[in-house]
Amino acid sequence: MDLQSSTKLIRAVLFDFDGTLTEPGSLDFGVIRDAVGCPKGRPVLEFINSMASQAERAEAFKILDAFEAEAARQSRPNAGAEEVLEFLRARGMKVGIISRNSLASIRTALDNFGRIQSLDFAIILSRDDPFNPKPSPEGILAAARILGVPVAQVLVVGDFVFDVEAGHKAGALTAFLTNRGSSHPCAYPSDFTLEHLGELKEIVSLYAPLPAISSCTGY
Ligand SMILES: [Mg+2]
Repeated sequence: MDLQSSTKLIRAVLFDFDGTLTEPGSLDFGVIRDAVGCPKGRPVLEFINSMASQAERAEAFKILDAFEAEAARQSRPNAGAEEVLEFLRARGMKVGIISRNSLASIRTALDNFGRIQSLDFAIILSRDDPFNPKPSPEGILAAARILGVPVAQVLVVGDFVFDVEAGHKAGALTAFLTNRGSSHPCAYPSDFTLEHLGELKEIVSLYAPLPAISSCTGY
């Protein structure tokens, strides 16, 4: 964890979903690429959206949706995810999700969480929303506007380079989650590097204002 500056202020946390709030590895992108004919190393969403024929695009999205739905049913909360989400909510932090997955698959996966549900998030942005997906900063900028928080006070947490790139381009703070070495290395510089989600508690304790106290009795 790199604590470089004392000028940072965090008022909202936007999480990537797959491999960040859920255990990594539920989606096998190699298998999905083969199924939709996407060349190795090319992002699947961008490949499908580049298909000339609308019928081909619709068919490819059907295949992707089926893989995602099955992975969502099998997925489990990532280590420490529910504890950290409860901690952030108790601190009065606005918490959201920004994902390249479909909203349906996110909701299905959240059904496997025991202590956290969809309603606990102030915002859930998915590829079903009208924003270009990460690494575009569009969704993060929109989320900051909707949450009423300056984007510079939003922390974006994710396990993939697109999460960090999108957060950085939006002007947000970024935290790359290594999942103890199982994430692909991130070539994009991030404000923080986390081995596991539990480390977020220390960051938020350092950089988030304490919740307002509704009444105070002075001496
Ligand atoms: Mg991810």
